Amino acid sequence: VDEHDPRSLDRRRAVATARRLVVKLGTAVLTHEDGTVALARCYALLEDLARLRREGREAVLVTSGAVSAGAAALGMPRLPAATAVRQACAAVGQGRLMAHYVATLDRLGVPSGQVLVTREQLAERGAPARLRATLCTLLGMGVLPIVNENDASAAPPPSQAGGPGAFADNDELAALVAERIGADLLVLLTDVDGVYSADPRLTREARLLPMVCPDAVAPEVTAAGPRRGRGGMRSKLVAACRAAAAGCTTVVANGFASDVLGRLCAGEELGTLVPARPGPPLRQAGSALETPHAAAV
Ligand code: GLU
Repeated sequence: VDEHDPRSLDRRRAVATARRLVVKLGTAVLTHEDGTVALARCYALLEDLARLRREGREAVLVTSGAVSAGAAALGMPRLPAATAVRQACAAVGQGRLMAHYVATLDRLGVPSGQVLVTREQLAERGAPARLRATLCTLLGMGVLPIVNENDASAAPPPSQAGGPGAFADNDELAALVAERIGADLLVLLTDVDGVYSADPRLTREARLLPMVCPDAVAPEVTAAGPRRGRGGMRSKLVAACRAAAAGCTTVVANGFASDVLGRLCAGEELGTLVPARPGPPLRQAGSALETPHAAAV
């Protein structure tokens, strides 16, 4: 990518002028290493969101962290592997997470509502349209929807079950939400600065890529995994490609950076941008996501 390419400026302008945002907070951003909610970080991000809404933007929050918060509340030193125990942790953690969001957002004067979904349920006829209607109605009422997978009752991830399974991760869920509500910006906040040319933990030459074209994600685009939570960079790129096909621009950025949402929405070049495809949204084939053939540009 040529950082001085005027198109890159245009694309950042597309971020700055976005009216409808989906912001996904990963487990690593929301919780500390021990799984407890990172209160100061969360408060700052929610304050940013409240400000963006006051500027007239609509926002949907996609949150992870239910399993992690539940495990922490139950005194587990690490995330459990067994499905039933993970689901039990999600049942404990999701409520705690929401209690935290509602208390904070109420203080900020932002009404919020919880929307939990499963992939199985969304495969039902009419379900995607209902999800869209619910989310758009909430937005119309000035409510900040807070979406997560219903981890307590969702099927296990596809790799374990072999069937349609749960969402691969909340990156996929966030892309689906963005597609459903016709968002113009998807922000995936994680614990690294964006997408690198190689795994920055292993390679000193790894460079942060300011932009990745959805048509061309190369195999060398790293799959640096997160420390906690599902997902990882590859899954973020898959999600971004899906959003791009629906006409939505994605930015992968560091949720630890101060005022990251405000700065992004002011057009600052933070993180990695995956531009929306021009033209009418492409139809997605089923719900199965394909790994993008994409090359960093
Ligand atoms: N839905 C899971 C949770 O809230 C997280 C999935 C992910 O890490 O992407 O714990």
